[in-house]
Amino acid sequence: MTPEQLADRVLSWYAAHGRDLPWRHTRDPYAILVSEVMLQQTQVDRVIERWTAWLERWPTAADLAAATRADVIAAWQGLGYNRRAVALHEAARMLAEQGIPQDQAGWRALPGVGPYTAAAICALALDHDVVPIDVNVQRILERALGATTIEPPTGKGHDLTQALFDVGATLCLARIPRCEACPLASDCPSRGQRYEPQRKQSRFEGSRRQARGQLLDRLRQAPIRFVDCDAEIAALLIKDGLAERRGSMLTLPQ
Ligand code: SF4
Repeated sequence: MTPEQLADRVLSWYAAHGRDLPWRHTRDPYAILVSEVMLQQTQVDRVIERWTAWLERWPTAADLAAATRADVIAAWQGLGYNRRAVALHEAARMLAEQGIPQDQAGWRALPGVGPYTAAAICALALDHDVVPIDVNVQRILERALGATTIEPPTGKGHDLTQALFDVGATLCLARIPRCEACPLASDCPSRGQRYEPQRKQSRFEGSRRQARGQLLDRLRQAPIRFVDCDAEIAALLIKDGLAERRGSMLTLPQ
């Protein structure tokens, strides 16, 4: 199968089977940035409601930039990896001050935006002919083409990206792909294979990450006396811009 054939088949499949996700109804770079940052570590089903509420509350980068850090961290509750909220807030401030970057290098200059997210925004918001390579897209390309990148047909960067996201999320699954429903099956050398379980994530229970999350959740309710906190965990939150010390109290950043 050639890359062109892969693109053709995936695009045809997407036209009939693509998922209807709320951020697919906008080309606003800020709104797509918010969706990409939320989706970095959080499942699509959980992001849908949170993204919608976020955009209602802060519809533009300028609105988010004007929010307090404490409000932003509070609104991130339940999405996990709270440093993303701090980075998104900083990124919104830069967008509000400097305008919308028009290339990947410009996006990568924003906090929390790496090569993947920059490429995703350029494909999905700015219609660049690029396909961002996340783990799902990489898996499809490796299995079907033995490749690690793909050039979209001219003008198809947006649609091919969304199509590959959907094939990766619904068909070419990590362990047991659903080849019987895949538009690439007739020419895919990996058709019918199963894969060993992925390496398990390190245990969350009892981890520092859990302790940080728990302390931050308490701060979302109210400031805490510093002497009542685990000093090491509090220091980590302060270092990441998620908390600050005010006199004898630990609080969300003001
Ligand atoms: S045929 Fe199977 S392994 Fe190949 S791309 Fe489709 S789902 Fe993945």
